[in-house]
This record gives sequence, C-alpha cells and structure tokens, in this order.
Amino acid sequence: MRLTRAVTNIRLCAANDAKVQALDAVAAEFKALCQQYVTHFCTEAEPDGYADPCFVSPLSQRWHRVAIQQAAGVARSWRTNYLRAQDDFADTMANWYEERCERRNAAEDMPPEWKPWKTPTLRKIVIRANANVAVLQPSENSTFAYWLRVSTLDKGRPLFLPVQVAAYHEQCLAGKMLDSSVTLIRKPDGWWLTVTYEDEVPLQTLPSAPVVGVDVGISHFLTTSTGKHYGSFQGSLAKRHQRDREKRRRKAKLRACLKKKGIERLPSVQNFKLARTVRQEINRAINQLYLEHPGSQIAFEQLNVAGMRFKTRRMNASLYASNLAHLPRQLAWGAAKRGIQATTVKSAYTSQECQRCHHVARSNRPTQQTFCCEVCGFRANADANAAVNIASRARDNEVQATTSRQDLKNLLDQRHQRWRLETGWP
Ligand SMILES: [Zn+2]
Repeated sequence: MRLTRAVTNIRLCAANDAKVQALDAVAAEFKALCQQYVTHFCTEAEPDGYADPCFVSPLSQRWHRVAIQQAAGVARSWRTNYLRAQDDFADTMANWYEERCERRNAAEDMPPEWKPWKTPTLRKIVIRANANVAVLQPSENSTFAYWLRVSTLDKGRPLFLPVQVAAYHEQCLAGKMLDSSVTLIRKPDGWWLTVTYEDEVPLQTLPSAPVVGVDVGISHFLTTSTGKHYGSFQGSLAKRHQRDREKRRRKAKLRACLKKKGIERLPSVQNFKLARTVRQEINRAINQLYLEHPGSQIAFEQLNVAGMRFKTRRMNASLYASNLAHLPRQLAWGAAKRGIQATTVKSAYTSQECQRCHHVARSNRPTQQTFCCEVCGFRANADANAAVNIASRARDNEVQATTSRQDLKNLLDQRHQRWRLETGWP
C-alpha cells in the first residue's frame, strides 16, 4: 500500500524582505487567479485540471496551470459535498414529512430549510505548487538543508529561498525520495512549507480476512459488527433522552442572544478545548479497535461533513460534527499505516435496514439506541445492526453498483421480498 506522508511546518526563512515581497506578490496574483477558476469550475464549467486558461493574469503559463489544477480540486470536492448534502437534505425532508403526523402541534412545526450553498471563497494563501514553478533542492550550504527555487512574476528570474529544517524533520526525511510538488502556506509570521513523500507499507490483510463493519456515531464513536463499542462522549448518553424541541429552541435563543451581545469569544474557547479532547478520544478509540481485531479487514461508510451534520442533527451536537466527520478519514489512515485493507461502502439506509430480512424503514428504530424490525421482529443495538450491514456491503457488488439512493432502496426492497418468499413470511 502506498502512503503519502506529509512533513508540515517547515519554515521558509525570511532571507530578506525583498524576497518575501516578491513571493507575496506572486501569491496575491495566484490567489486572485485561483479564485476566478474556483468560481468558474463551481458555476460554469466542470472542474478540469487541464482546462485551457480563460482568465488574464500577469502570471506565467506554468503558474496558470498550477492555479487551474488547484482550483479544479477545490471545485470538485465542493461539488461532491454539495450533491451529497442535497441527497441528505432530501432524506431529512422525507423524514420530516413522515414524522409530522406523530407530532402534536404540527402547526408550529417548520419544515427543515435548505440553505443555499455559496461557492467557496479562498481565504488563506495556500499554493500547491508543482515542479514547474517551485523546486526544492538540497543545498551545498551547511546552514540550510534545502533551497526552494520559485518562479516569480519576473520571467527568468527565479527566487532562491533558504529552507531551514528542524532536527526531527531531518530525521523524518532522511533517505526519503521527496515528491516533486510542495505546498507553500503564507502565515502572518512568514512562509511555511509542506513536503510529502511516498511510503510503502506492505498489505498485511489476507484475502480471506474477516470483514469487520464499523459504524460511526455519536453515542459511541465506533461500533463494530462484532458488537463492540469504542469511545463516547461522556454523559451524552444521559442527555440523549432529553432531546426535546423545547430545549433546542431555548438553546438557539440563548445563542442568538449571546451573539447579539457580542459574546463570541467564550464559546469558541470551549469549542477548541472540546475539539482537542474529542480528537484524543477518537484516536484512542481507533487504536483500540485495531488492537482488538487483529487479522481482520474493515469496512466503513463514506460520510462527509455535511452528512455527519445531518446524522448528528438530532443530538444537537453540531459542535462535535466537524470532528466526527474526520473519523472515517482517520479510520482509513489507521488501516493504511497498519497495512490493513479498508473498504468504504455506501451509507444509505445502513441504519434503517434489517440485517435479517432487509426490510428498510425509519420505524425500525423505535429509539436512537434500539433497532427492532417491524416485520420480522429482529432486535439489536441500532449501531451494531448498522455495522453488520456495513460489513456485508464490503463484498456486496450489487449494492456497490447502485447509482442512487432510490436504486439502492429498490434493491433492498427486492431482497426483502425474496426473503419473504424464501421464508414463507405472511
Ligand atoms: Zn427484519
């Protein structure tokens, strides 16, 4: 398995002000150009890293190419997230209609609102440069490990910037073939570099290795198809049952009130501390999971930030959502560095499908925690049921081949009908 490892926070020494100014000048043009292409690829054309230049800029053709490549990447992930969010929203809307008849004061109930998405605005200055515009070369000079050669607005007059490498970075990079592209980041205190290199990790997983399905959630970060739970927000279990709308409304009011008074600093500090604790807890949970499932391969859902937000909506835990959204990625990384095969599967209906008879219904989940099939009566922990579905999807080509939620739903309905025939269920 090939792993791309990154070494970040390498300082580009401010050799002299003129050099930094020259780099800043390139960066300003680059950001403006890149932004034009981002908007273009989000609204007018399909993202294409090899598209012909269509904006005017004092930057060279080579810089133009770098901007187009980078913008296409930004636009591509924006478009993907946008589509998934629309999908998720359609689901949320369907749930809302379904649940509406159960609610007493339906008149007060407002349907979920679709908030139109804005196209991305580039805020930070980040340049994913390729070898055509920036090259890292070993330096003969003993004070610096590398020189970074960057093309500027002045044709034929590149900049040479000394790169200082900390001792621990030097150890990381010793003997490694660095990738030809580097990422340049402008921070208030100067320019910083990220370099990457390929690392080869042999695949340890045998083809016959059992698949462990992993469900990502709130009450437990991870639940496996083997019925184990890893990690949890402390006390969140108790809170879960109190999730009534009144409380949410009061909280929203309070938040709005605080905002009006200009109290924005306090919540953000809490946010930060919590986020760090959450990250540590997540890492611990992931390590534990791999420790307890040696010789297995894993399967997990493709979830994005937006999807995760909808998943956490009921918990009013948007605070955790952004961190939880990284969980699948960390799970994948954890597998990659251990040489474990990891498969992502379609996430639609994993929590609503009965693992025994494939009946799909929201009402299969009488509470957040329990799964109870309304047809065959199969009962399980809701997350564990989802994890089993995830595990079986890893080798389920039919499911993986479906192209839409509806497609997938039809397939599951067919399987349920087949199950009824085979078992003679009335
Ligand atoms: Zn069932």
